Amino acid sequence: MDKLWRKSHVVLVLFFSVTNTVHAQDDFARIDSNITAYLKRDVDTAMKKQSLSLKEDGSWADIDYSSTAETNWAPLMHLNRIKQLVLNNSARNKTSNALRFWLNANPTSSNWFQNEIASPTAIGEILMLLKQEKIVPISLQDSLINRMKRGNVEKAIGANKLDMAIHMLYRACISGNKNLMDSAVNQAFMPITLSNTEGLQSDFSYRQHGPQLQISSYGEVFLIGEYKVASWLVGTSYAIPKEKLKILDTYLINTYLRTIRGRYIDFNLEGRGIARNNILDKSSITTAASAYSLLALAKQVNPNNSVMLTEAEQRISQTQPPSYQLKPGHSYFYKVDYTLHNRPGYSFNVRTVSKRTIRTETGNRENLTGKFLPDGSTNIQRSGSEYYNIMPIWEWDKIPGITSRDYAVDQKTTLFWGERGVGAFSGGTTDGVYGTSVYELNYNEVTAKKAWFFFDNEVVCLGTGINSFAKEAITTTVNQAWQKGKVKAFATDQLINADKGFTARDINWVWHDSIAYVFPNGGQLSLTTDEQKGSWANINANRSKNEVKGKVFKLWFNHGVDPVNQSYAYIVKPGVGENFKPSPIKIIANTSVMQAVEHSELHMLQVVFYEAGSVIQNGYAIKVNQPCVLLVKYINTNNPVLHVSDPTQKLTDITINFNTVAASLTFPQGDHKGATVSFQFN
Ligand code: CA
Repeated sequence: MDKLWRKSHVVLVLFFSVTNTVHAQDDFARIDSNITAYLKRDVDTAMKKQSLSLKEDGSWADIDYSSTAETNWAPLMHLNRIKQLVLNNSARNKTSNALRFWLNANPTSSNWFQNEIASPTAIGEILMLLKQEKIVPISLQDSLINRMKRGNVEKAIGANKLDMAIHMLYRACISGNKNLMDSAVNQAFMPITLSNTEGLQSDFSYRQHGPQLQISSYGEVFLIGEYKVASWLVGTSYAIPKEKLKILDTYLINTYLRTIRGRYIDFNLEGRGIARNNILDKSSITTAASAYSLLALAKQVNPNNSVMLTEAEQRISQTQPPSYQLKPGHSYFYKVDYTLHNRPGYSFNVRTVSKRTIRTETGNRENLTGKFLPDGSTNIQRSGSEYYNIMPIWEWDKIPGITSRDYAVDQKTTLFWGERGVGAFSGGTTDGVYGTSVYELNYNEVTAKKAWFFFDNEVVCLGTGINSFAKEAITTTVNQAWQKGKVKAFATDQLINADKGFTARDINWVWHDSIAYVFPNGGQLSLTTDEQKGSWANINANRSKNEVKGKVFKLWFNHGVDPVNQSYAYIVKPGVGENFKPSPIKIIANTSVMQAVEHSELHMLQVVFYEAGSVIQNGYAIKVNQPCVLLVKYINTNNPVLHVSDPTQKLTDITINFNTVAASLTFPQGDHKGATVSFQFN
């Protein structure tokens, strides 16, 4: 009996190990063919032509193999050309010679990235493409695989880790090494986690170069890389784990895609890349652009999202309007001090900073004049193209939304790779649809308390405590976008012709390009609609010096020189005609202790309390015992809903009184400091 059992056990074990091997072989074959198909798309006609001039010794005459340059490292061109030989049926037989030359010459750069990522990746791609051809001698292939063993994947983080994992994965495929494949896949998906340092954050924002907002830029590279690897592994035992896929999909759908309006992304999300021409145009992420684009890959990896992602593609490729299937939404990203507000008719997003985060960086000679970008810049989009390629002709101390010194000439940034923010009081409260955000500005000898109150048809912008001893006048810019069509303005009870602008006038409202700007308390406003000139080289030394120009709608408040406790108030109403209706908005307070706005149709109160205080109105009284940002819904009932956050990210709890009842709430801690907590009175 015992013997028999043992026998069947052995048979069972054998059976399982055989099927496992079969599965593993199937998996490898499938991954091979996915990667090969992916790499075959890389045909480059110009480089293909250059690759044909290969010499007898396996080298190209125009490549300096002794170069150690950090960027544009010439020897890498050798590998890129070999790849074109491989993709060329009539030249493929020359590859072994060229590979042998590389192995012997062993070119090295002084930039680790070229040695540890760029070269091994290129070698891996070549060997993957040659795998079925069997034209590379085994000994040559083994030596090249050895040459690929570069970089410490375990120690690397973020995009670098993923890049190293990818060439490790190539190596596993080429050598059929299962253990190597296990660890390559494990390392590749490791960055898909909610981190508290760099990378993806607990609020589903993305940080890189310290605590710096990089939702597109590095965040986009992360998305493309991870979906690419995931697409290679679909249907195998190496497929991306469900919980990781959920994180990746959430970042793509709930964060990244919502920052794009029509075809164009928010200008605040590309980091220093804001100074690159065409960067805001995201049409390259659609399936129409490439079968291996971000959204094509995301659909392949998770077909459950196909309908939603196809709708996004239709908006981006402009086969449907920007409003198509778009749902109202509001997010405050407390890890990067960024507000995202979407409505079918518009986007209104705000970039701020605090002492917990880092200002928009300048580096590699890019973004030379963007030093005021995080000082409350507002990205207001209807069609999406309002700011597309306007950057070289912007006046950079009048970025939309910011309060700043008005210099005669744009100031160049002198600190590189980001500068730590200063204010402690930056934050935002949201219920997922509405929201309130605040920014304590303290930069370049200008201070202000800036707040934004977000509703459906309007955003209320308040500023107070504007102080500066600087010799320049201080301005708050309402907008600086492409001029489009007529401009209307209303001042002291009459319509004025504003097509040619105006200077320092008390204005009630301005209307331009389907957006109304209402000034409930007036204020000294200036408008220009003139042609502005500049060049990409002015803002990015790597780009063209050619002059670019265009007409710009630029509207701003003048707070004058030496302002003391100055303030401003304006209401932005996107998506209205020139005969728009007034908003049911009451500005209750705009002082250094409190900024408060009530919306009488939504029965909603939004308050920034800079200290403990109260709002007492006809029908209700709200009192708080701590500073906070408070949003109250159904304020006209006995059961209002509270949403509250702590912009200092220091507090543990708060007590809020509504009329005669009190609620004590605990603020989220740890990685969720600054997040909103909610409560309903019953
Ligand atoms: Ca200026």
